[in-house]
Amino acid sequence: MFEKLLTPLQVGNITLRNRVLMGSMHTGLEEDPEGSRKLAAFYEERAKGGVGLIVTGGFSPNTAGRVFEEGADLVSEDQLDFHRPITEAVHRHGGRILLQILHTGRYSYQEGCVAPSPITAPINFYRPKELDHEEILQTIDDYARCAKLAQMAGYDGVEVMGSEGYLINEFIVKKTNHRTDEWGGSYENRIRLPISIVEKVREATGSDFLIVYRLSCLDLVEEGSSFEEVVELGQRIEEAGASLINTGIGWHEARIPTIAMMVPRAAFAWVTGKLKPHLKIPLITSNRINDPYVAEGLLRDGMADMVSMARPFLADEDFVLKAEEGRPEEINTCIACNQACLDHIFSMQTASCLVNPRAGRETELEFEPASTQKTFAVVGAGPAGMTAALVLAQRGHRVTLFDSKKELGGQLNLAVKIPGKSEFHETLRYYRVMLAKHGVTLRLGKTFDSSNLENGGFDEVILATGVKPRGLNLEGSKHPKVLSYLDVLEHEKPVGEKVAIIGAGGIGIDVAHYLTTKSSIGDDVSGYMNQYQILEPREALEVGQPLKRKITVFQRSSDKIGKRLGKTTGWAHLQSLRSHEVKLYNGAEYLKIDDKGLHVKVSLEKGEAPQDQLFEVDQIIIAAGQEPFEDLSSRFNGKGMPIHVIGGARETSGLDAKVAIREGAELAARL
Ligand code: FAD
Ligand code: SF4
Repeated sequence: MFEKLLTPLQVGNITLRNRVLMGSMHTGLEEDPEGSRKLAAFYEERAKGGVGLIVTGGFSPNTAGRVFEEGADLVSEDQLDFHRPITEAVHRHGGRILLQILHTGRYSYQEGCVAPSPITAPINFYRPKELDHEEILQTIDDYARCAKLAQMAGYDGVEVMGSEGYLINEFIVKKTNHRTDEWGGSYENRIRLPISIVEKVREATGSDFLIVYRLSCLDLVEEGSSFEEVVELGQRIEEAGASLINTGIGWHEARIPTIAMMVPRAAFAWVTGKLKPHLKIPLITSNRINDPYVAEGLLRDGMADMVSMARPFLADEDFVLKAEEGRPEEINTCIACNQACLDHIFSMQTASCLVNPRAGRETELEFEPASTQKTFAVVGAGPAGMTAALVLAQRGHRVTLFDSKKELGGQLNLAVKIPGKSEFHETLRYYRVMLAKHGVTLRLGKTFDSSNLENGGFDEVILATGVKPRGLNLEGSKHPKVLSYLDVLEHEKPVGEKVAIIGAGGIGIDVAHYLTTKSSIGDDVSGYMNQYQILEPREALEVGQPLKRKITVFQRSSDKIGKRLGKTTGWAHLQSLRSHEVKLYNGAEYLKIDDKGLHVKVSLEKGEAPQDQLFEVDQIIIAAGQEPFEDLSSRFNGKGMPIHVIGGARETSGLDAKVAIREGAELAARL
């Protein structure tokens, strides 16, 4: 079924058991005092699950290059004991593992960060110090030392991170390299650093050591490399001794989403395909590849020799095994939400996964077989209930899952309707397949009540009955113009051309997206490329879509709009709304709703005092929070059996699918 993907790849004297690379991900465990044990367990599960080649999170070759002051580095033999359990764990299962060498340059969050020129990055507040000639030579030696240490720790090779706007990339691109010495000016001078690094690393480690070079194929920033320059660098890196080239897309400061859910699958594989005829060593493609069929298709079409997937291995450690054993429908697909991986890293938490809360917590959250088999009723088949039911059944309990709706999924059935969120369909498919596989009895279209409780023969009950929209206490809130987000998304009630949305949290913003267009760019690569005018590796700009509706979104709090959206994706959602000319106002005081529309006291221009305004709209949509659907626990408590409450039924503050799934899994692991 996945012949190309599962064919071994010979690289020099090293055989990789398939063409799947688990791309580098910083997990936060690199800096954890218990990190060696935890990372060994994390990578071991992925190696056992069949990944051909794993790349670790980034380790800096010196102090200045760390991600932040306490960030991980590999600079001395004292640190080898941290790494040996990791390489041994991977090798026990026939896997191969590379250490990523990452010098973050001007992206380093610390005083004393360094760069080719003293130009502060737009996403950092530390001004970098310009490296002098001697320091550049020392940095090259540091890379070689780091690679040698990696070899001593048992790694099969290293990945030299040359993209994403980190140090090496900063030397290559004119915008960040204003030097006039032999490391700046001409392209030849600007690429001297990566070439020297690869040469020195090869010299230090010998011929049987893998060197992957992550080449920035598409910078997506002003004055980025042209395609001809990318080809030239690729060829020079090949000559310098690299074994494989991995594709890098977009600097971190680029304002174009490259891996978020709204980016179509494999949207950037064409870049690797364009480069492929120009190079002799194997090429790896990457970005938004989360499915074995897509990966197989790319290899079949000759776009690359190997496929890199990173987040899909947080979502499912057995991705390759399931593909190998012909059960791809059991893969828990990464939905590219970033909510528990990148968003965690950017808020200094350990990376995990929304759809797989065990990721990164393999030593803490274990699903052991149950010592005594019990019979459970799980009420509510949203993400919390489905997860609890599945984990209980996997552990050997008997489980019946009830939902008053005719389909599984709870609010996820609304999320899938939002443009760019169609990946949630995969989560729904995963639960459908796995609940059936593990023998969970489904009672759909059945509202659970006291009679089920009394006559069901259950030992314990889990309430995962979720949430409903919170109403608005405002004059006119019962006016026919007023709709709830459920009226719009679930009941698909007609909505006019002029709309006000009350509430700018995740759901309010999603409703605005839904109303801007019903077609999803999430499935259309050429539409996406056109939207951002990504025609070649230079700067790309977003262009607006034709305006369909006049939409205004209000928020009561004076906090910046989007503050509670995902750290790494919120900006892209807002940028997309602005491109549809959606107006967003914070600090709004709602006055009343009448036949004319919505009366609000709000400031329309920055710095102006708030004034009473009338928004003459056809509809006012309320997305101002949620409350538990129904408090069944107070009705059921005291009926002689343990009642557990999880997800939105327990707490609506901070609720999302990540919290719901995690609570379902944690509870079910304990019972
Ligand atoms: P729910 O999903 O509300 O499920 C509860 C279920 O219980 C329902 O199916 C209901 O029918 C059933 N039920 C209630 N009472 C009974 C009863 N007595 N008997 C039987 N069944 C009953 N979260 C994210 O993390 N990322 C996103 O991108 C995201 N996007 C979203 C987009 C939209 C438009 C919406 C509406 C939500 C989104 N969410 C997102 C939020 C996420 O879907 C919810 O937080 C999550 O579904 C809550 O899970 P839950 O299992 O607690 O409850
Ligand atoms: Fe993928 Fe979301 Fe999990 Fe990250 S949190 S690995 S993006 S599903």
